[in-house]
Amino acid sequence: MRLCQTAGASCGACCGLYNQRELGRPALRAELTRRTRALARVPRTPEAFRAAAASLAVDAPEPLFPSVRICPLLGFLDAGETRVGCLAHPRATGGVDLRDCGVYDAETCDAFLCPSHAWLSPDEAALLDRALAGDFHLYGLVVTDVPFLRAVLAGVAARTGAKVELRHLEDGPFRTALRRLLALKEELAPGSEGLFGAFRPGHDGEPVPRRIDYGALGAEQSPYDEILTCVGADPRSGNDLEALEAEVARRLDGAASAFPRPPSGRR
Ligand code: SF4
Ligand code: SF4
Repeated sequence: MRLCQTAGASCGACCGLYNQRELGRPALRAELTRRTRALARVPRTPEAFRAAAASLAVDAPEPLFPSVRICPLLGFLDAGETRVGCLAHPRATGGVDLRDCGVYDAETCDAFLCPSHAWLSPDEAALLDRALAGDFHLYGLVVTDVPFLRAVLAGVAARTGAKVELRHLEDGPFRTALRRLLALKEELAPGSEGLFGAFRPGHDGEPVPRRIDYGALGAEQSPYDEILTCVGADPRSGNDLEALEAEVARRLDGAASAFPRPPSGRR
């Protein structure tokens, strides 16, 4: 199972896609477009690609985690800018492998599979692919956060009494509601650092795990704690815990009420 490039979705998380201080869609898109346009004019040789990568890195946006590498060879694979991927891969260059010119080497890029490949079941992967087809930005955020996806699906199942299956996504309104639920990963206070969910950048730029300290807040643990932690709702990250908790409940309700039920009552 490869989750990186699927029929409908694409991901660039491990190439550093989300490692920039300004994390909104427009900023991420702008950086991908800048790289794609610059590399389109570069001869397909290691010397030229290496020089282009160095030049792109100079003007790159400020990273959120300085210790985590950002590869300037990640860009858009299609003219419509719907699919993110490696512009140095032989399939993108027309034959020559230029991945040695990036922040790793071709062997590392080829061999690396993030932990989601081991953790996600084929059913979960297919479901995510269908739910987020065409949305590389949200797909990359969710495919790399298995606890979030599972907590969301469990939250829907707890309300409907039925497991969410791939066939349920054939229903347009439910697909839209599930997508909106998964988009909780993007619904954070402006300027907050919550997009990385259960992690925050430490003083040395290394990711630090985060747990919501309900005791310090004088609050009971939320029934949606796992989802809230994954979306970075910890108030110390600059987010409004109560508002996000209400939003989680609202979107779970929305998905549950759109859940398709057969006329016979069978699920
Ligand atoms: S983060 Fe995982 S799914 Fe995404 S491109 Fe890397 S290996 Fe593939
Ligand atoms: S060269 Fe490697 S790290 Fe860079 S974009 Fe390609 S796959 Fe990602």
